[in-house]
Amino acid sequence: MYKIMAVNAGSSSLKFKLYNMPEEETLCSGIFERIGHDDGIFTIKYNGTKDSKILPLLDHAICVELLIKALLEKKIISSLDEIKATGHRIVQGGKYFDKSAKFDNYSENLIEALIPLAPLHNSAHLVGLRAFRTKMPSTLETVTFDTAFHQTMDAQDYTFAIPYKLAEKYDIRRYGAHGTSHRYVSEVLIKEYLNNKKDSKIISCHLGSGSSITAIKNGKCVATSMGLTPLGGVVMGTRCGDIDPSVFNFLVAKTGKSAEEIYQILNKESGLLGVSGLSNDARDIEEGVEKGNPRAILAQQLFVRRVADYIGQYFVRLGGCDAIIFTAGIGENSAILRKEILDDISSSLKIKYDVELNAKTRGSKTLLSLDDSAIKVVVIPTDEEVIIARDAYTILMNKKLD
Ligand code: ADP
Repeated sequence: MYKIMAVNAGSSSLKFKLYNMPEEETLCSGIFERIGHDDGIFTIKYNGTKDSKILPLLDHAICVELLIKALLEKKIISSLDEIKATGHRIVQGGKYFDKSAKFDNYSENLIEALIPLAPLHNSAHLVGLRAFRTKMPSTLETVTFDTAFHQTMDAQDYTFAIPYKLAEKYDIRRYGAHGTSHRYVSEVLIKEYLNNKKDSKIISCHLGSGSSITAIKNGKCVATSMGLTPLGGVVMGTRCGDIDPSVFNFLVAKTGKSAEEIYQILNKESGLLGVSGLSNDARDIEEGVEKGNPRAILAQQLFVRRVADYIGQYFVRLGGCDAIIFTAGIGENSAILRKEILDDISSSLKIKYDVELNAKTRGSKTLLSLDDSAIKVVVIPTDEEVIIARDAYTILMNKKLD
């Protein structure tokens, strides 16, 4: 039995989950929040209990130190040597990584070089990786990329129609995001709902505060909605998704704001929040719709419209579809938004689903479609951490990754 920790380090937070592998038994999980503040928060869940305390969290290295101390004190481990690997989530792997890898000089340099493509994320991941390396120097570190699953796209699916020379020089192309999530849910679907069918055709909808839709053929990504960065694709909590690129120039010219300021507006003040003027949270939008707020109604319609459009597009791209998956915060929990999307696509795609079952499904693996539906519709809660731990375990065992 090997203990492996999955880690997701952000700029001010660090999430962790410790597994016994290959059994995939969770030993503990938790989060450090408000890193860099005197009133940081450390929460750890183990053995059915949850401990939370407020304490100064100067930097990521202190968090790793506190984590090791807690694991030993709570007897979750009896010695640090028991943890054989830490597997880290990395948002951007660029064109260099189509699978998880060891964290070594080679991958470290590339993750650093890719910072311009994911400034907030990759730099924070590196801080986390280096903190673990300092505090656990003899433990293997592995890296699992959100973009890796999308590296199987053809050039026609990832190329933007800008001058080729520029695209080549700056590596501008569609990289996508949420790849680990799309990979996890599609693997579960193929195994549990498609009887390991060859040539399966799946449309995976990861709908959360960030959302992306992915077309998956025979287990491999062929197209995905997010672009160079997570700004592209469907309407999101605060991100605009796909728009005519000239809106950007027009806004710079009309408002007198800088390109960077407009970019921030498109990232942080647009989407559900920007259109509704209410909130970026789908639950608040649903409440607004219930009260008849016209802009909440419009925001919700835009979200549903764009998701339905992508599903239609990918149905054509795949040449049909065996199953549609809903996952992440909205996909797993929002019966209303699932219903709106399904009602929009049902007649064209000949989908039949259990309306009552949908209404009560929240965060649990559920087949929503009826037997005579042309396409299966399944809610599958995502689990990116288990994929990170599985890949770390595979690398630890010196086995080949898929
Ligand atoms: P991320 O991991 O991208 O931060 P999540 O996948 O956790 O996001 O999704 C968060 C979003 O899910 C929230 O902003 C909220 O809009 C939505 N959400 C969560 N629960 C519900 C619910 N019961 N009904 C509607 N929306 C929900």
